[in-house]
Amino acid sequence: MQLYGGIEAGGTKIVCAVGNQDHDIIEKISIPTATPAESIPKIIEFFKNFEISALGVGSFGPIDPNLKSPTYGYITSTPKLPWCNFNLMGALKEALALPMKFDTDVNGAALAEHHLGHGQGLDNLLYVTVGTGIGVGALIHGRPVHGLTHPEMGHIFVPIHPDDTEFNSNCPYHDHCWEGRTAGPAIKARWQMSTHSIPKDHPAWELAAHYISVGLSSLIVTYSPERIILGGGVMQQEGLLEKVHTKIPTLLNGYVQHPAILENIQDYIVYPKLEQLAGTYGALLLAEQALAESK
Ligand code: ADP
Ligand code: ZN
Repeated sequence: MQLYGGIEAGGTKIVCAVGNQDHDIIEKISIPTATPAESIPKIIEFFKNFEISALGVGSFGPIDPNLKSPTYGYITSTPKLPWCNFNLMGALKEALALPMKFDTDVNGAALAEHHLGHGQGLDNLLYVTVGTGIGVGALIHGRPVHGLTHPEMGHIFVPIHPDDTEFNSNCPYHDHCWEGRTAGPAIKARWQMSTHSIPKDHPAWELAAHYISVGLSSLIVTYSPERIILGGGVMQQEGLLEKVHTKIPTLLNGYVQHPAILENIQDYIVYPKLEQLAGTYGALLLAEQALAESK
């Protein structure tokens, strides 16, 4: 039986998993995202217990996924300083001589939903997570979008809501970006309360739904995705997805004349089928692709 290794590297934890060709996860561990010197040996020790044929890595970013670049495989300008300009794939390659593939965590999650979840049978889709940040994975013709580096759609600029002008963005780079106004830490800073303490009927959720919908509307007119898979911790807030379903047709104002938006938006913007495991399955699928491409 063919075994694959997958690493989902997140800002707080790194999930390492081994899966088989039937997409069963056989073993999985989670280690804290400490420093590379602490985390990398633990990752390697885990995978050395298995006869894996390839390794896939879906990582927090920004990363350099461009095979032709001298810094391919690096985590680049992350604010997580011990990982800034760290040659992640180099460190893994040195210890594990295997075919490997590297992409963003969200491109991995988009692949996973495409192969195993709510994106099956579609050509173009977006996987959006609203959590500690906003990340977007984009597939066009089933393949993750790369360019100069990779898209960073969490940092598109959004108009500031008239009730929100007194508040600063939570993004250290941009005052007007989507993530800086919308992700979990922005909600917490804006209302001076943890997201778990904000009551369900608090105006915080109307404003969050507004910003989520503004950003998604921009992505709809930019990418024309066939479906948007919308996950992340903030989306676990009860009633938030329904608010987004109501607001998007109003914002688009009839311009995108498609029944998916006008009549059936609850099937167009959906939670991930793979729930918290989308990123892990994504890393395992990257491993499968690495092996296929090495032949
Ligand atoms: P990460 O983005 O680090 O992978 P998550 O997707 O779990 O992590 O998102 C974490 C964020 O989601 C935190 O900012 C947290 O406040 C927020 N969050 C978690 N649960 C809820 C909830 N039920 N309602 C609103 N926000 C939530
Ligand atoms: Zn930003």
